[in-house]
Amino acid sequence: MIIITRPDISDAELDHIRERVESAGLHTHLSRGEQRTIIGCIGDEERLAEVPLRSLPGVESVMPVLKPYKRASREFSVDRTVVRIGDHATIGGQAITVIAGPCSVEGRDMLHETAAAVRDAGATVLRGGAFKPRSSPYSFQGLGRAALEMLTEVRAAEGLPVVTEVLDTRDVDLVAAHADMLQVGARNMQNFALLAELGRVQRPVLLKRGLSATITELLMAAEYIMAHGNTSVVLCERGIRTFERATRNTLDVSAIPVLKRETHLPVIVDPSHAGGDAELVAPLAFAGIAAGADGLIIEVHPSPECALSDGDQSLAPPAFASLMGRLGAFAEAAGRSMSTPVAARRVGALTGTAA
Ligand code: PEP
Ligand code: MN
Repeated sequence: MIIITRPDISDAELDHIRERVESAGLHTHLSRGEQRTIIGCIGDEERLAEVPLRSLPGVESVMPVLKPYKRASREFSVDRTVVRIGDHATIGGQAITVIAGPCSVEGRDMLHETAAAVRDAGATVLRGGAFKPRSSPYSFQGLGRAALEMLTEVRAAEGLPVVTEVLDTRDVDLVAAHADMLQVGARNMQNFALLAELGRVQRPVLLKRGLSATITELLMAAEYIMAHGNTSVVLCERGIRTFERATRNTLDVSAIPVLKRETHLPVIVDPSHAGGDAELVAPLAFAGIAAGADGLIIEVHPSPECALSDGDQSLAPPAFASLMGRLGAFAEAAGRSMSTPVAARRVGALTGTAA
């Protein structure tokens, strides 16, 4: 922590600031310039968290030296974190992981059909909302527990681990019993009770950036989960709210390299919710990979025009397969590869030729 003093600070005020810092257990170091004196505070900065330094007479400004997030910070871990989802999928290694599936689980058949289609196209994780955080209370809210059961059934039948959103602290154990990864939606990114609860479960968490959250706020939300004991967190840039109305949100491409610089946690991109338009999914997915994302989460529906939520931005299976076919070149240009499809891994495991 560095304290910059006012030019007219008195000796008594300077002594008082030093006393407050030192009584919190830190040492001080004075650097006297022509105009002002700077007080360097040496020691555990966290001990100053409750000291209202800015309000002390003679203080002009206070600059923290350390980041507010620790466990999530790049410095905390020598290696980048690789998050495991179920038995076969990972996010954060050299390969790009694609999560795909419907916005909402609408029924058993559509879930089987979508899971098989996305798996055959190369996705390694299935998504599907059971509890939906809709902006309107009159919109489809998801099938809830019944959808969770369908996800469990389809996961076993189609061989894909599943991710689904949890909205409420009371549902954390229920959702964790059915899903391989728990999603925190944009609207809940700062639901600190939910984040703390997710720190206690043995399931990876997909944490989506809030609609108006800064990068630091996203990292602090991850820090909450990690500080409560769960270090398997994947961050998701899903577009933020700006003045622009031509797209549902604005994909903050810059957030991807900034996050990769700031944290060891994997970062994925949601081009579906960012653009809000099926036509924009491919270009935004390519941009995400080019910017260094570790994966994508994409909405796919067997018949987007009949979807009960987010049909406009959902890809039909052929469009998704075509996108997957074109992603490889972008992954290669970014020095990455595409994650091996589950089916190929299974064959590899049987013949002993692949990991
Ligand atoms: C979703 O993934 O379906 C969803 C609701 O996303 P977000 O929380 O990013 O709006
Ligand atoms: Mn959606």
